[in-house]
Order: sequence, then structure tokens, then C-alpha cells
Amino acid sequence: MNKIGKTAVVNEEECIGCSVCISVCPNDAITVDEMAHVDKAKCTGCGECIAICPVDAIKLQ
Ligand code: SF4
Ligand code: SF4
Repeated sequence: MNKIGKTAVVNEEECIGCSVCISVCPNDAITVDEMAHVDKAKCTGCGECIAICPVDAIKLQ
């Protein structure tokens, strides 16, 4: 899997657990319980989840 150096990181204090990000991730890298979690081994840093998150809780690091 290609890596561009960064992966999505969820801000625990901002995430509201809405699960919208799961549906846009092309790599099934996100799971949500009370908040979203990103599997760094699967995330390619594509940014789709960042664009869709309604509370801007995800950043690339
Ligand atoms: S940056 Fe892309 S690959 Fe990584 S968790 Fe978000 S949608 Fe999935
Ligand atoms: S879209 Fe944003 S607020 Fe919703 S579960 Fe994902 S990271 Fe959390």
C-alpha cells in the first residue's frame, strides 16, 4: 500500500462519534466506538475523512 508519509489522527476531544468518516475511507482504516480510530497501517493519508468530518476533528500528521 502506498504511503505519502502522513496518516489521519483523530482529536479525541472534538470527535462526536458520528461515523460519517467511515463511509468515505477507501481503505477501511476507520472504526468508531465513542470516537473514531484510525488504523495507521491502513491509512494512506488521502484526506477524504478530513474533508467530510463535520467538526473538523481529523488532521494529517
Ligand atoms: S486519510 Fe484517507 S485512508 Fe486515512 S483514514 Fe482518512 S479517509 Fe481513510
Ligand atoms: S466524521 Fe469526525 S466527528 Fe464523525 S466520527 Fe469521524 S472523526 Fe468523529
